[in-house]
Amino acid sequence: MFVSNSLGITDGHLTLGGVDTVLMAEKFGTPLYLFDEDRIRENCRNYVSAMREHYGNGTVAYASKAFLCAEMAKVMNEEGMSLDVVSGGEIYTALKAAFPASRMFFHGNNKTHDELELAVDCGVGRIVVDGLEEAESLNNMAGRVGKKVAVLMRITPGIDAHTHSFIKTGQIDSKFGVTLENGDALRSVGSVLKMENLELKGFHCHIGSQIFETEPFAHAADVMIDFMCAVRSTYSVELHELDLGGGFGIRYTSEQNRAEYGEYVKAICEALKRKCAEVKYELPYLIIEPGRSIVGEAGITLYTVGRVKSIPGVRTYVSVDGGMTDNPRYALYKSPYEACIANKADNDRDFVVTIAGKCCESGDLIQENCNIQRPEPGDILAVFSTGAYNYSMSSNYNRICRPAAVFLRNGEPRVVIRRETYQDIVKNDVLK
Ligand SMILES: *Cc1c(COP(=O)(O)O)cnc(C)c1O
Repeated sequence: MFVSNSLGITDGHLTLGGVDTVLMAEKFGTPLYLFDEDRIRENCRNYVSAMREHYGNGTVAYASKAFLCAEMAKVMNEEGMSLDVVSGGEIYTALKAAFPASRMFFHGNNKTHDELELAVDCGVGRIVVDGLEEAESLNNMAGRVGKKVAVLMRITPGIDAHTHSFIKTGQIDSKFGVTLENGDALRSVGSVLKMENLELKGFHCHIGSQIFETEPFAHAADVMIDFMCAVRSTYSVELHELDLGGGFGIRYTSEQNRAEYGEYVKAICEALKRKCAEVKYELPYLIIEPGRSIVGEAGITLYTVGRVKSIPGVRTYVSVDGGMTDNPRYALYKSPYEACIANKADNDRDFVVTIAGKCCESGDLIQENCNIQRPEPGDILAVFSTGAYNYSMSSNYNRICRPAAVFLRNGEPRVVIRRETYQDIVKNDVLK
């Protein structure tokens, strides 16, 4: 009945990880990001054990852009995950939580000089170079500090994974990576192999996001091994690391069906083994980078309902005390979400409403045509599957304070990000 099996109902109240969400709203205030930490850990374990069972030689890197704070980095470390980072801020956050730099993969289509310097200084395990220019400046930087830097090269393999065009990153028209089809990728490998201070370990690709089928991933594995064979025959080197990115789909709505996360890993590993046997290539060290699927379904957002405005023959607006500032995804991509009134969870969801935020922006909606229970001011509204790309995409638009984030472990809540205050809002303002 719910999109995530972290959710349930006890005594008419919505529960997350067995904990009464209405109580959590009372205790910590709203809006509130609430996470089932047990589920986050279970998701990690499913990936890690599938990798061990079906392949052995690999690692699972959590794509921290989905949701990161120091405590999250600590949990990922405890679960034996590696970390995919895309900015100096993410590296800094992970280091603050004593996450080992050696297990970080640093991505980005336009890493700044300072970010590259930070990555080289702290010893990030792999820098994923996005193009030749970046490889050149990294090579020079590494030379200046007398280090040899291990890199992967990001390839754009031209795979259309049939997903939303805003979050589709694998096809030829992409700001990411070097293009495979036109020979750019193969030429760039030749240049990077000659760079004295870089050690090219292998390749990376990321074919998109919110992909439900296993085939596109298996296809990507095939295409990448073909490319590694082309590198072998052109330059007489066999490279032995392959990072196939993330993009495994999650359930935002009850209609969406995804595979178990282990099934994606299995499909990738089987495709790799088949292909490598066929072309006689030693099985590479495999990296996968799930982000959304680690945290997405494990998180919900709790709001307090304010104004309920019915426009007869048009629609009913239910305004909440948050909005596009804590969840910009409907405004950005029309992302679907399901919701319910947490304090009336037993009642039928027979009201069709538009959930609106409090920002001065008509497009500030969380969802349209959403089925919930009869809403009244003061109700606690829960929006599901908001664990990924919500906090990490949040803003202070309208000078609104960001919500707190609370993890639930074994039924016990703990604050992992405190609620922003007005002091936080003005802390960088310079007043003469
Ligand atoms: C965004 C991204 C991921 C994670 O994608 P999800 O859809 O959250 O699993 C992994 N790798 C790279 C390079 C990315 O850009």
